[in-house]
Amino acid sequence: MVARILIVEDELAISEMIEIALTNVNFEVIKAGDAEEAMRLLGEMLPDLILLDWMLPGGSGIEFARRIKNRELTQHIPVIMLTAKGEEADKIHGLDAGADDYITKPFSPRELIARIRAVLRRTAPHTESEMIEVDNLVIDTASHRIMVNDQSLELGPTEYRLLHFFMTHPERVYSRSQLLDRVWGSNVYVEERTVDVHIRRLRKALTPYGHDRFVQTVRSAGYRFSTKV
Ligand code: CA
Repeated sequence: MVARILIVEDELAISEMIEIALTNVNFEVIKAGDAEEAMRLLGEMLPDLILLDWMLPGGSGIEFARRIKNRELTQHIPVIMLTAKGEEADKIHGLDAGADDYITKPFSPRELIARIRAVLRRTAPHTESEMIEVDNLVIDTASHRIMVNDQSLELGPTEYRLLHFFMTHPERVYSRSQLLDRVWGSNVYVEERTVDVHIRRLRKALTPYGHDRFVQTVRSAGYRFSTKV
C-alpha cells in the first residue's frame, strides 16, 4: 500500500517542488492550497500524513492542525508542520497543537523525505514490513497469503485488502467512506453499504478462529480493527 501524503501549502512553487520529490519516491500526493480545501478533501479521502504549512491564507496552519486533532476520524493522521526559518515560537505552538514533527524552510527534498519516513515508521510501523502478525493471524504481503494458527485462509480480493488495511492501521476508527477511499480507491463509485457486506464476509471467514472479534463496529462512526474488547 503506497503512503498517501496531503500537502497543505498556498505557495505553488513549494507545493510543486514537494510533489515532484515525493512522487519520485513513490508516495501518492494530494495538494490543497488552503485549510478550507484541505478540510473538504479530508471529508473525501484519508491521507497517511499531512504536510502543513504554518502560514496559510484564511486561517493559520495551527488552527487547522487543532481541527484535525479534535476530530475522531482525523486525529490519528500524523502532521508535519512546515515553518519559516528561526521562528521558534511557531514550532512550539505547532507541537502544542498536536503536530508530530516540523521542518524548517528551506529544506532539501532528501531531508523532507527522511522526516516523512521517520514519522510514518513511528505512527504506522507496519506499512513497510512484509509480514504482519496479530494474535496468530498473519498476513504475508509479499505472497498475498493469510495464515491463521498456521493454517492457510482463503479470502476474496476485497476482503484481503480490507484485512490488510485494518492490520496496518489497527486501533483506529474508520468511517465507511474512509474505508471505501482506502480499500476500494477514490475513483470508484461504490455505495457505503458495500463496506458492510465485505465486513460481514471478512468476519465470517475469521469466525472459525475467533478472530472476527477484532473487526469491531463502532456505533455511528464506522469500523475498527482492535485486539482489545
Ligand atoms: Ca504559505
